[in-house]
Amino acid sequence: MEQGKLIGFTDNFADNSTEAGFQFTFYCDICREGYKTGFIEAKSYKKRKFLQGLGGIVSAVTQIAGQYGVGYGVEKATDVITERFRGMSPEWHKEHEAAFEIAQNEAKNHFHRCPKCTKWVCENDWNEQEGLCTLCAPRVNVEVAAAKAQKAVQDIREKAASTQIFTGEIESKQTICPNCGKPAGEGKFCSNCGAPLDLIKCPKCGAKNNASARFCGECGTRLS
Ligand SMILES: [Zn+2]
Ligand SMILES: [Zn+2]
Ligand SMILES: [Zn+2]
Ligand SMILES: [Zn+2]
Repeated sequence: MEQGKLIGFTDNFADNSTEAGFQFTFYCDICREGYKTGFIEAKSYKKRKFLQGLGGIVSAVTQIAGQYGVGYGVEKATDVITERFRGMSPEWHKEHEAAFEIAQNEAKNHFHRCPKCTKWVCENDWNEQEGLCTLCAPRVNVEVAAAKAQKAVQDIREKAASTQIFTGEIESKQTICPNCGKPAGEGKFCSNCGAPLDLIKCPKCGAKNNASARFCGECGTRLS
């Protein structure tokens, strides 16, 4: 058993282990989201704590320390795993390796390996239908949903545009005020200037004429 022998199912992992126990974080190759495995207590640490707890038996602690050459409580601040865990006992290293194995099996349940690009990806970046990562096979339903949303926006725009045209038609049918020349609305008075709109119907053609008109503007019939 060698130090730093840890070879993960993915390179994207962090070793969060300490003297007291083992824990690892595995990262998705696409979004970098991390999955932290459950903490596994180091038996070697527990044993040492127990011996320390006995207080009087200093010799036992000294014996273990001497045996393994452990600098208790000293942890070198470096990212290199072999350096960081150099001071740990062989017993600890053995446990460390076993814990890494367990952690990987745990993490594998939360990741998928893309057979095409060999990336290890999280649930979010996995296309279950295609059995590929979302970079290799974008999820169809996601694409469809996006397309549908786009179509809906388009439909609303089109509807708004056609409604506009319809409104225009209504306006064009409105009576033009004889006083101000603008659409007068449908009341008895011009909605723009307030002029009275007492229109009279031509008895011949039915066209609406201003009350003051003497002849129909459409057919020329005398309106009295
Ligand atoms: Zn991801
Ligand atoms: Zn892929
Ligand atoms: Zn008017
Ligand atoms: Zn007429």
